[in-house]
Amino acid sequence: MSAGGLVTLMQPQRAPQGMRVLAFTVDLDRDCNVAVPGEMAAASRDRGRGVPPRHSASAEGMEAIADMLRSLSLPATVFAEGETLLSLPDASVLRGHELACHGMGHEDLTGESSGLVPDDGELRAIIRRSKEALSSRCGIVPRGFRAPYLNIDPRVLSHLGEEGFSYDSSMTAAAEEGSVTPWRLDNGMLEIPLARDRDAEGRIMDSYLWAMHEGRRPVEDYFGMLERFRAGALVMATHSWHVAEGVRDGRRGKAEAAAQTEALAQVLGRAKDLGFEVLTLEELERRFSADR
Ligand SMILES: [Zn+2]
Repeated sequence: MSAGGLVTLMQPQRAPQGMRVLAFTVDLDRDCNVAVPGEMAAASRDRGRGVPPRHSASAEGMEAIADMLRSLSLPATVFAEGETLLSLPDASVLRGHELACHGMGHEDLTGESSGLVPDDGELRAIIRRSKEALSSRCGIVPRGFRAPYLNIDPRVLSHLGEEGFSYDSSMTAAAEEGSVTPWRLDNGMLEIPLARDRDAEGRIMDSYLWAMHEGRRPVEDYFGMLERFRAGALVMATHSWHVAEGVRDGRRGKAEAAAQTEALAQVLGRAKDLGFEVLTLEELERRFSADR
């Protein structure tokens, strides 16, 4: 820990020789979530019935994604927001996947999106409640964290370290020459970032699959991202609800939701064909710890 107790970033470390890993991550959170100015917890986008949190698209999408992963025999890391997890009709859908934390009420931990910055006591309470949701519903002690809206800062990371988390996956790193390597924070946690590179036309492209689900990028763009990736760990991410609800289009019908799930299956199938090793983030974190 640095002076003042805040976490600072350290130099990225080298990927173990020959490592070319894909980690598929799912943020299980309230449907089409939006930050509310002056409020800690998130709302769902207003579809004509106000903004109270909705969870049905998230539950439906999680089931579809879990079925798809089973058919491909692939594990995912699921960042479960506490309230959405507790509202899931059947948590057995998560069996076989790694579970990690994503806040309790999808709180904006840095205040960047809501304008409301939680104090240290509030931060600690949010993090502890999100851990308790996972232990009470699923009987596990989570090791990983992804911040809602990916809003993370040194203070939040310090609290996460104190609460026993061993990795965070909230930052985004440039895939320099087709490589992204997790790095060690000075509180001992491993940062396993999402990736950003440039597509064939030179446009910036994120490994968060948001643009694909919103119809702004075809699946082939993500094939390209996989093909450009040569070493280290490529973390891809989606939201469970995004399969069943679009930000622009609203709630999707069955055929549309199936097409969204199929697009995810195509990306993951392509990664397998290209020889990526598919790991959960905890498996990846353990590998880096063994390598130290
Ligand atoms: Zn989220």
